[in-house]
Amino acid sequence: MRVEADRRHITLPRLGMIRTCESTRKLARHLERGTGRILSATVRCEGGRWFVAFTCEIDRIERTPTRPDAVVGVDLGVGNLAVLSTGRVIDNPTHHRTALRRLRRLNKQLARRTGPRAPDGGRQESSRRWRQTKVALGRAHARVANRRRDGLHKLTTRLAGTYGTIVVENLNVSGMPANRRLARTVADTGMGEVRRQLTYKTGWSGGRLVVADRWYPSSKTCSGCGVVKAKLPLSERTYECTGCGLVLDRDLNAARNLAALVADVAQSRGETINARRGAVGPGIRAGHAPMKREPRQRGTPPRQRGGSLTLTDKH
Ligand SMILES: [Zn+2]
Repeated sequence: MRVEADRRHITLPRLGMIRTCESTRKLARHLERGTGRILSATVRCEGGRWFVAFTCEIDRIERTPTRPDAVVGVDLGVGNLAVLSTGRVIDNPTHHRTALRRLRRLNKQLARRTGPRAPDGGRQESSRRWRQTKVALGRAHARVANRRRDGLHKLTTRLAGTYGTIVVENLNVSGMPANRRLARTVADTGMGEVRRQLTYKTGWSGGRLVVADRWYPSSKTCSGCGVVKAKLPLSERTYECTGCGLVLDRDLNAARNLAALVADVAQSRGETINARRGAVGPGIRAGHAPMKREPRQRGTPPRQRGGSLTLTDKH
């Protein structure tokens, strides 16, 4: 198993030399410096594209976030990828909406064509046109997922590299448009993925990830005076406080509340951080839950659907 010096080819056992679409520069440098070792390679096909994933052992350089004392709250949404408590809005990857529209169109098209299931419940041969749509739908799904994943990785890398403490919600219950099941699924998986990535990336950077209690009303609380609204319809995109007159973007208000959680703990109790990088202590207000231990190892990819083949060099 080898990464070729031209950064564009790899050599795998049984498969030989293969050209890669992405540059292999990062991995190649580790191998050349002797700070990395390839253990195995997994080849899979997804959405009509071939991927190879290397499992490696890497000596990492110790890093610290550029602002180790800074706290940032992150609110994930649907309209945009995320809103930070600093006021920064991170947009969705470009053409996100167009891609979702295409998915909807293909789903409808698939339903109109003759699939493997007959109207009476029996099986029938699917039509060529049905299979064509099925393939196109698979590709469109893969493209949306890739774009989203890329955007999330860029976001979490930047967060972990910048802020010493990052506070996220446990579940994204704010900012989701009602009756949009597709959008909801995308947002939900994004939340879990952001947590997963931040867990291992804060581990690398020496930062800390705090996950708010799932019942903490980050959207309904006023970030100015602390008043909690009984009700806040999802259609209300602006938070208007009746107590102190604060008017603020809904997601920004939520992000600020998340960031304020950590400041509260530090003030009232003196901070205690355990091995799980969560704030600990029995007297902590509802809203401060230590993070759950991740069952997977740091940096391992999520479970993949479909077939894949893992290759190792024989020793
Ligand atoms: Zn207020």
